[in-house]
Amino acid sequence: MSATTSGIAPEALGPTITIGEILVEIMATTIGTGFLEPQVLVGPYPSGAPAIFIDQVSRIGGKAGIIASVGNDDFGKLNIGRLKNDGVDVSAISVIEGKSTGSAFVRYRPDGARDFVFNITSSAAGEIRVTSAGDALIERAGHVHVMGSAFAIPGVSELLSASVKKVKSRGGSVSFDPNIRKELLKADGRGLMDEMLAATDLLLPSDEELLIAAGRPDETSALARLFGMGIREIVLKRGRAGSSFFGQDGARIDSPAFRVAEIDPTGAGDCFGATYLTCRRKGMDPDKALRLANAAGAHNVTKQGPMEGVSSLADLEAFVAAVTAGATL
Ligand code: ATP
Ligand code: MG
Repeated sequence: MSATTSGIAPEALGPTITIGEILVEIMATTIGTGFLEPQVLVGPYPSGAPAIFIDQVSRIGGKAGIIASVGNDDFGKLNIGRLKNDGVDVSAISVIEGKSTGSAFVRYRPDGARDFVFNITSSAAGEIRVTSAGDALIERAGHVHVMGSAFAIPGVSELLSASVKKVKSRGGSVSFDPNIRKELLKADGRGLMDEMLAATDLLLPSDEELLIAAGRPDETSALARLFGMGIREIVLKRGRAGSSFFGQDGARIDSPAFRVAEIDPTGAGDCFGATYLTCRRKGMDPDKALRLANAAGAHNVTKQGPMEGVSSLADLEAFVAAVTAGATL
């Protein structure tokens, strides 16, 4: 299988960009249900699926930029500082006076399900603006990553559509994580989903998102519909079961997960997707990219905090060597 058949634009065309929410995450230190009694919390940790994704793109060696908003507060400074330090172009992050940076409080239940208290749509994260720096970033981008969670923010679907058109018209490519939220399935959800799928080169669903995105009841008909829409490759995230690559030509590669002790699963999918995409943009074959992406997802779940386990290529190589050698991480 050749990397050149992928339709994923090479790094040389320009940076990978994304648009969406920047948040802090504040986590309960005990397992239980929700926030109805006082309890010990830990945080703030930098978060937001698009932010985790773009931080990982940069850490693994890709050029990266984000269009997003934060408030003029410590939570915003924490996030901008982290992204900047990790090499992300932060010029298109707006600092909005009079709004707080978005936040998510999370507590894990005994069965691994999560309870959240979100402050997103009424925070700075819910007010994404395109500044001249944002326009300039879109002009020079080689790839747009569309994060489904960002559709909950007013105006972002229009902005993503316009960016996708512009970047594709200059030979760039698009990846889509249909990180399904209820918002996407409401009202015009299907139309929006289909519009994004039609522009997508690389689809990164997790588990049943494949069927939901395709609107089909089983894997075979879902894959047929998605490839029929022009998607070039589909990479399915399966948590502890690893991941699978499906090519337009019928190729399939299954890649097992690394065995690690899971401390915090949030952000695994974002680190996985960013690593896979960036490796492919650098011309790596799908099987090798898949293995490194599995390593990035596994490495992330060993750290508390959604963005604390992002990895450089050197980190991943050391991680793979350690887990292959049987060390417990
Ligand atoms: P998120 O919680 O960020 O939304 P996701 O559902 O999009 O995640 P997952 O399938 O949970 O994505 O994780 C992505 C990849 O990370 C998996 O395909 C796997 O390779 C790796 N991974 C996730 N959880 C584990 C785990 N507990 N052990 C080992 N690897 C894992
Ligand atoms: Mg996901």
